Amino acid sequence: MGYTQWVQNHAEKHKKIVEKLLAQNYTKEQIIDYFDFENMKVKEEDFCPLYAKDKKCHDMEKLNCYLCSCPNFRFNDEGIKKIDERTQFSYCNIDSKDGREGVYGDKIHQDCSRCSVPHHVEYVKKHFDLKWSNIMHDCAL
Ligand code: SF4
Repeated sequence: MGYTQWVQNHAEKHKKIVEKLLAQNYTKEQIIDYFDFENMKVKEEDFCPLYAKDKKCHDMEKLNCYLCSCPNFRFNDEGIKKIDERTQFSYCNIDSKDGREGVYGDKIHQDCSRCSVPHHVEYVKKHFDLKWSNIMHDCAL
């Protein structure tokens, strides 16, 4: 599955959960709390494949899943540009100090495995929108 397809699928999953919570009159703060990893792995086990393994994507005590993926991620499944003999498919728009360039054969992808930026509650609050796809609007190039 390409990243574009993943984004479309994820937007639908995200939307269904938010709509369910809104129907129960959840506030913004309650919705954000609901997306805490510890709650999501129990209540929304299909949202992320890591829940079944009780495994976090990042090593942090309190991880929030509302902004999976990340608003700073930029990608194009067809490739963004050539860098020497390789093709770059994604990068970090804020050049996070914890992000890295991952080289996989002739492909370059942004490696976010050491960056926890979008998973902090304060970051989620700052960038919050009930519609996840609005927050991710600039990601697809
Ligand atoms: S490196 Fe961090 S800030 Fe940049 S796209 Fe990845 S998760 Fe987001």
